[in-house]
Amino acid sequence: MEKKEMICIVCPVGCHMEVVKNGKSEEGYEVSGNQCLRGKVYGIKEMSNPTRVLTTTVKITEGKLPRLPVSTKGAIPKGMMMEAMKVINQVEVQAPVTVGKVVIKNLLNTGVDVVATRSMEADSRSQSQKVS
Ligand code: SF4
Repeated sequence: MEKKEMICIVCPVGCHMEVVKNGKSEEGYEVSGNQCLRGKVYGIKEMSNPTRVLTTTVKITEGKLPRLPVSTKGAIPKGMMMEAMKVINQVEVQAPVTVGKVVIKNLLNTGVDVVATRSMEADSRSQSQKVS
């Protein structure tokens, strides 16, 4: 019997739950230990198709810092994280960047974009080197 113990991360209460695969129940899983319906939904999703928001950085040229913080705009399947990081690691953006700028559109056909989570001005030193 497939079962998993987990802590619900939907709210700060952090209920300890057990999710058991059960063909007899309507959703295919039986959830216990949850104090509300949101926990049940989370538990079933964790068993059937766990997803996460991916937060990381990409290279930025002529920025004030060498890396730009980015994040997926929504959750993507947990099993795609390694492949997603390979794609993200190949990206290099040019400063300046405004928060919310789409860095990668439709990451791995998930329908989820990768966006900048902060703005970054161009480094004035690299600008002045260009002029001289
Ligand atoms: S089951 Fe409900 S009350 Fe418990 S942690 Fe999840 S969201 Fe919060």
